[in-house]
Parts: sequence; structure tokens; C-alpha cells
Amino acid sequence: MRRMLVAGNWKMHGLAADIAAIAEIAHAAGDNPQSDVALCLPATLIERAARAVPGFAIGGQDVHPAPKGAHTGCVSSAMLLDAGASLTIVGHSERREAQGETDANVRAKAEAALAARLGVILCIGESDAVRESGQAITTVTAQLDASLPGSVTADRFAIAYEPIWAIGTGKVPSVADIEEMHAALRLRLMAAFGDEGDRIRILYGGSVKASNAAEIFAVADVDGALVGGASLAAADFIPIIQATR
Ligand code: PGA
Repeated sequence: MRRMLVAGNWKMHGLAADIAAIAEIAHAAGDNPQSDVALCLPATLIERAARAVPGFAIGGQDVHPAPKGAHTGCVSSAMLLDAGASLTIVGHSERREAQGETDANVRAKAEAALAARLGVILCIGESDAVRESGQAITTVTAQLDASLPGSVTADRFAIAYEPIWAIGTGKVPSVADIEEMHAALRLRLMAAFGDEGDRIRILYGGSVKASNAAEIFAVADVDGALVGGASLAAADFIPIIQATR
């Protein structure tokens, strides 16, 4: 039985004034010990949040694969840890698209973060055109195979399946489509890591909100969610945490 994980992805949102919302979410996480909760914040807010809610999981949204160096604007694993983060997202589709990140880049980032003992949420997902062409499973499993680090442990590694067309659009795949994709990803994880692959959490992401969370969490092999827009306000995010089983 995998313990569920609900992670908020604040993207480019969040100022000092939002620490109160973070504290409220951390408090709700304490009231819901059945699952793990994390907030992946903009780098500028990590240290302040980590100080405000000690013991609550704060994450980054990206990490550079190198330990340090001439990489203007980038943040290393050691920097995230130093600021108080315990995990990071890698390979979000917004970065794959806007920053041209390849599967090989994403894999290097995941390996660097894991080597530094950060937890990793690795994102994969298909475009609208790929879904329409009937190639979603083939495309996303290939993306997974090419982005996966060489070795992982399930306590510090999760996958987030996020169909690009479902992110921020209010559109969500059918329960049957989510189940089919998560089952295919589970098989790939077990092929790669054996029994450990059965313990890795596979989150669903893309327009998760309070009104659809319970239905999504009931799907086989859905082990939680990566939540964007609905993680920004405590009143929207807390019911999603409460919907975990
Ligand atoms: P959304 O974003 O919940 O706003 O659709 C999810 C994500 O991009 O991680």
C-alpha cells in the first residue's frame, strides 16, 4: 500500500505575504496524517517558508544538474537543501517547453538531486496532438524510460503524470484514461526497478481541484496529485489533502 502524496506547485506565484497560507496548509497537513503533503515554491520563498513551517516539506520547482558553476539564474541541489527544501520537481512540461529541456536534461537533474539526497518529483505527459493521435501511452512511457535516473528509492522519488492539455485548462482525462496510463507507467517502473518500482508513487497532475480529487484518488495506481492553481489558496488546497485515502 503506497502512502499518498499531494504536492502543490506554486509556479511563479508567492510573496512574503503568502507565508500565512503556507502555514495554514502545513497545519492541515498535520491534521491529515494519512498522506504526505509538500509545497514546491519559487526559489525566493523557500528559505522563508522553511523557517516558518519547520518539519513541513518544502520543495523547489527545478534544479540544475551541476553542483555549482557559471550557470546564471540557476539553482543547485545544495542551494535548495541549504535554503531548507527537501525535494524538487524536475521536468515540468512548462520547463520542457519554454526552456527546451530534453529527457536527458531531466534525467541529469533527477540524478543530481537524488545524489544530493533531495526528493524528486519527475514530470511526464503528452500534448493534445499526441493524445489525439492515439500515441499517448507510447509517447509517455518512452519519455519515462528516457528521463528515469539509474537508481532510485521510493521514499525519495515520485512520478507525476501530467497531460499538458490538462494543465491549467480545467480539462481532465477520463478516469479510464488515467487508469490506463498509470498502469502502463507502473509496468515500466517495475521493469526498471523491480519491487522498488511497485513502491514508487505515481501522482496525477492537471486541473486537480477539490471537486474532482476524490474521484481521481480512487483510480488504481494514482498515489496522489501534483496541483498547480488549486494549491495557491489554502481554502482550495486543503480539501484536496482531505480527499486522500
Ligand atoms: P494545474 O497545474 O493544477 O493548475 O492544472 C498542474 C501542474 O502544472 O503541475
